Amino acid sequence: MRLAVLKERRPAETRVAATPETVKKFIGLGCTVAVEAGAGLASGIPDADYAAAGAEVAPDAAAALKGAGIVLKIRAPLGAGEGAVDELSLIPRGALVLGQLQADEAMAQAYAKAGIDAGAMELLPRITRAQSMDILSSQANLAGYRAVVEAASAFDRGFPMLMTAAGTISAANVFIMGAGVAGLQAIATARRLGGRVSATDVRPAAKEEIKSLGASFVGYESEESKQAQTAGGYAKQLSAEFYAEQAKVVATHIAKQDIVVTTALVQGRKAPQLVTEAMVRSMRPGSVIVDIAADAGGNVALTKPGEMVVTENGVKILGFHNWPGRISGASSALFARNLLTFLTTFWDKEAKAPKLPAEDEIVRGVMLTRGGAVVHPSFATQKAA
Ligand code: NAD
Repeated sequence: MRLAVLKERRPAETRVAATPETVKKFIGLGCTVAVEAGAGLASGIPDADYAAAGAEVAPDAAAALKGAGIVLKIRAPLGAGEGAVDELSLIPRGALVLGQLQADEAMAQAYAKAGIDAGAMELLPRITRAQSMDILSSQANLAGYRAVVEAASAFDRGFPMLMTAAGTISAANVFIMGAGVAGLQAIATARRLGGRVSATDVRPAAKEEIKSLGASFVGYESEESKQAQTAGGYAKQLSAEFYAEQAKVVATHIAKQDIVVTTALVQGRKAPQLVTEAMVRSMRPGSVIVDIAADAGGNVALTKPGEMVVTENGVKILGFHNWPGRISGASSALFARNLLTFLTTFWDKEAKAPKLPAEDEIVRGVMLTRGGAVVHPSFATQKAA
């Protein structure tokens, strides 16, 4: 079984879907591994390290993909007209492609048409058995860490209270909005740096988690928010009245904050806008806002996706794309291990090939297409053209 690893070509993408460590493990499973030249460079992995791990370093995508039965990707392969290389057309029919594959109706149809078995790892069910394969968790965790580190770097004071012979500098007030995987890591990181940390969320379970990390909870709670969590653990879309009450609580609190990190997402929707223009204007000059949700539309009214803006009142808003990609060495290592764990879990040792039982909850959750047809329950309404 030939396994191919491609260089990521989408803008702002610095990660790679396999590391020398996982390459060795795949070879141990009986695969031959081809890595496109330069695939790991933006994550600090030279071609020579893949070669030392036993991989063939292929000169381009076409050479890496020739004869491949498994393709590992971070992001969806480029299609016709999307870039210099039409990756989709180079992937052999029948190959299993794993990555964050931008699962939607149109992409599902495109994969089916190309005859690719597409495993969209972002659709992985959030059950205990799947935790070690969960790319959303591993990447959000690192994004939360990185956001706080970049906030500290952009801030013109320190996080901890600094008592010096020249006098004392007070601790920074840090407010984390959204306490899921990214937010909880942001709380922990800001606490480690010595900030005075508070956080908010709408899911009732999050309140206890915030407190257990030593941060204070600031938020609006109502009968509605008692039901704010879906069975899958995600936040629900709440009423306009709820958001208005939440905004009142946030508005008074935010005016006193030095650092705000926003991570709030509602699955399948544009990110909720939590920080209004008026709230930004109420903050002191030198304050920093990091909007991790920028790629999902942003939680902050003044975020410019992909940029850092400085407002008229001197507040910096960091709305960069791809936060996990800003810590690419670590995020590639974890993403690669998530994919390795998925494949070793569903591996036929004798056939030395993936074995994906359709009735398995994880397989059912992840597989968009199989054998040229859309099979995922959320997208299987139409057949491929
Ligand atoms: P997410 O990325 O979808 O959202 C981030 C956070 O934003 C969530 O905590 C959400 O409640 C919050 N949010 C949404 N609207 C908000 C608002 N108006 N104000 C403030 N906060 C708001 O979530 P996530 O980080 O992917 O985690 C969601 C849940 O899934 C968590 O409970 C997490 O523990 C759970 N989880 C379980 C597993 C597993 O069991 N395998 C794996 C990962 C995550």
